Amino acid sequence: MPDTPSKPPLTLRLCQPRGFCAGVDRAIQIVVLALKKYGAPVYVRHEIVHNRYVVEGLQNLGAVFIEELNEIPDEHHHSPVVFSAHGVPKSVPADAQARSLFYLDATCPLVSKVHKQAMRHQRLGRHVLLIGHAGHPEVIGTMGQLPEGAVTLIETEADVAAFQPQDAEALGFVTQTTLSVEDTAGLIRALQARFPAITAPSAESICYATTNRQEAVKETAAGADLFLVVGAPNSSNSKRLVEVAERAGAKMSLLVQRASEIPWDDIGQISTLGLSAGASAPEIIVDEIIDAFRARFDVTVDLAVTATETENFPVMSALRDVELTPSDMAFVNGTV
Ligand code: SF4
Repeated sequence: MPDTPSKPPLTLRLCQPRGFCAGVDRAIQIVVLALKKYGAPVYVRHEIVHNRYVVEGLQNLGAVFIEELNEIPDEHHHSPVVFSAHGVPKSVPADAQARSLFYLDATCPLVSKVHKQAMRHQRLGRHVLLIGHAGHPEVIGTMGQLPEGAVTLIETEADVAAFQPQDAEALGFVTQTTLSVEDTAGLIRALQARFPAITAPSAESICYATTNRQEAVKETAAGADLFLVVGAPNSSNSKRLVEVAERAGAKMSLLVQRASEIPWDDIGQISTLGLSAGASAPEIIVDEIIDAFRARFDVTVDLAVTATETENFPVMSALRDVELTPSDMAFVNGTV
């Protein structure tokens, strides 16, 4: 019998925490519970979370994804519409009310906290500087909590240098929840250097899940031949993990949505792989990627635990009378 060629050894450093956060888990639960309570269709404004696998899973259950409320046909205006975890401008619930739509707001409580921080700055007479990425739905939602002109978006140090306030003594800042902790600290330092009187939010705006996932990547990426982050190209927190891995010393760092996207020809000979997943990426895809490496390598998994997360955000009271079956729970937890 010919010898079976042995597989090369590979140490796979698996980050923990990784993947779904409490806000994503809650948002998916809201759609699943609404489908069980009210039946299909349940409309969802914008991708509930930035992950195609999750979106397609919910479509299979009867969710219909739309970008604007006017896409809901008149004959379905009694069907619920869910707002995504990223949050929405105030004009969206106002529009839903004007159309007599029944809406369920799945905005993550930590995004709502940033909305409140921005509103508090404005109530106290401060112009608000929002550190974030233009066009991201969370940024659109946060800017839309305040009247036009009340918020200025800051993306870079050049924006800090160019900003001309009406009153440098009356400024406050908040940030998007899913930014790079390091880059944001740099922008905050630049703002504070230029505007010493600027007021910080009462608590950190970058959320626990973003911070913990970046910390875990930082701890594990040094010396990795390749670092993979499971996540979507429009997922802000996932893209930040790729950058963190590069800066922490991974030789190559890539974002992949599925195992089929792993560029085997480009990665060559590797002996150490780092692996994490953005807050909107289900665990089943992490498993799929590990299996793909097991098919080519003799994999030893080294679990790198840097924090334990216990956060759990309850759904709104309207949905608390609905029970999830074990298979619903598996979907909500991202394991099927
Ligand atoms: S990444 Fe943070 S802010 Fe966004 S949904 Fe998760 S917990 Fe909430």
